[in-house]
Amino acid sequence: MSRNPPTQDVDDVLIKSRRRCALCYASGDATVKSGNVAHIEPVTDSRDETADNLMFLCAKHIKETHERKAATPMKLRAWRAQLYEAISKEDNTTRTTPPKVFISYGLDTTVIHEIAAVLSDRDVEQIILPKRLDPAFITLERLQLNLSADFAIVVLDKPAKDPAELFELGFFLGRLGPERVCALAMPDTLIPRDISGAHLIKKDASGRWKNSLIRRLAAAAIGTQSPE
Ligand SMILES: [Zn+2]
Repeated sequence: MSRNPPTQDVDDVLIKSRRRCALCYASGDATVKSGNVAHIEPVTDSRDETADNLMFLCAKHIKETHERKAATPMKLRAWRAQLYEAISKEDNTTRTTPPKVFISYGLDTTVIHEIAAVLSDRDVEQIILPKRLDPAFITLERLQLNLSADFAIVVLDKPAKDPAELFELGFFLGRLGPERVCALAMPDTLIPRDISGAHLIKKDASGRWKNSLIRRLAAAAIGTQSPE
């Protein structure tokens, strides 16, 4: 039986690969792919559960790797190294402005200060959206503004009573993908079943939600932590 790799290893692969498939990349396709972090060699054969045996692959190449039609493990690792090197070079040259993190909130106003405190350690631009009031408040201007987000945090108060927050969450999920969206649910929020998933963080009194949020930001490579 193959266990899922540790979350931290998966996050690490997502950071390094930026969801680029190393095999697609080797053939000249550097676009972001929908895919997954997969084992290079099946754990059942290799017994290798370390991060060295993991890479991000598009759905097509995961299938080919499983069927051993893709390439030898050595070749896969070489392509992975090539991709990581290209991405780290790109990181040092392309981005000139910090990524924009949008914060959308409704009833609870204190939570935005707590989120801002978490973000203050990172090199990001915080954009706190005007308070959501009612569904009519999701204006075209607001959606236009939302288009420039690199990451979005949507605070869920009472989804059943506020279609606007679900609409906005859906907008960000569709636009950015679940790995760059965080739905932060208040302790007493009734969460509709269809929005559960890794992007959902429940706010707890102990403050563990802050670590979860930091992990999500790191996995999406949103802003490096500022030096002390
Ligand atoms: Zn691929």
